Amino acid sequence: MSRLVPLITLCCLLLLPFATRATEIKGRYVTIVYGDNELLDDFNDELELGRKLDGLARKRPIVTVADEVLAKVDTVVEKAETILEMFPDQLHIRVVLLAAQEDVARVFQEKYSRSADHIAFYSLSEDTIYLSIDDVNLEVLAHEIGHAIVDHYFDVRPPYNIHELMAQFVEKRIND
Ligand SMILES: [Zn+2]
Repeated sequence: MSRLVPLITLCCLLLLPFATRATEIKGRYVTIVYGDNELLDDFNDELELGRKLDGLARKRPIVTVADEVLAKVDTVVEKAETILEMFPDQLHIRVVLLAAQEDVARVFQEKYSRSADHIAFYSLSEDTIYLSIDDVNLEVLAHEIGHAIVDHYFDVRPPYNIHELMAQFVEKRIND
């Protein structure tokens, strides 16, 4: 019995960093997951919306950086839906912020057992966008959100090339 206590303590200590490492913030269309506040700050800095989109984002209540990020991302989702003319019901996706492209590549490798040098990808099975904050910008985010919307809109998933074309369409027109 006395030996069990240190063992349990050790397990808790080992698990603790993983349990507390990720923070989640929830907006209307997205839950954003990140390891530390610096990552969220960087994402906020990199995510520069054009004048029109930024004006729309700032109509939402913004007090903290988290509010600002959620306002921007939710605005991008709405604009992407308008571009595609697709408004899927109950769209809610996860967006995981990772520091660099190597981190995105590592997650991709773990999930699909093959290597790729993506700076971002959308996992269809997990409903989750993984982003390298080193490389992210509005177009990159819009592209992945495009994939998510297309995925939610169709009951039968369109062929990969069509999926990709629609995501590129969103990417090109996000600031129109
Ligand atoms: Zn794509």
